[in-house]
Amino acid sequence: MARKDALYNMRQILIKRRDALRNALAGDLSLLKELRAQTAGDVVDAALDSAQDEISSQLAEVESRELASIENALERMRNGQYGLCEGCGHKIPMARLNALPYATNCIECQREAERYGAAGRADADWGRVFDSGSNDADVSINDIEMDVS
Ligand SMILES: [Zn+2]
Repeated sequence: MARKDALYNMRQILIKRRDALRNALAGDLSLLKELRAQTAGDVVDAALDSAQDEISSQLAEVESRELASIENALERMRNGQYGLCEGCGHKIPMARLNALPYATNCIECQREAERYGAAGRADADWGRVFDSGSNDADVSINDIEMDVS
């Protein structure tokens, strides 16, 4: 399937899911249940199981968060940015988009972000900034001394 067609299909799925989520947040779970019959095993499924026919606050939170992600994805589709990595600008592989329709980074950029996020980024960055800063200071002090003499 061409990427364009795959993205078109993805858009249809997202719109359907957005409508289902909107209805569910308004108290009507029928569309969501219909979708649930077609797809299997995601967060909303689990939330639905635990909520039984009532919308728990947890479910509502999951739904509104996913709704925001869908709106964001649809907005990106409208302006032609969907499927492009926010980090490097390259196309995100269709396989990744199928697994993670709301992904805004390619796997490489995502790993990079997670590596920095998990490993105490602040410490590493400040260490580097501090080192280069003190080197610069040494150089400029030497320059000044040379100018004076
Ligand atoms: Zn990237």
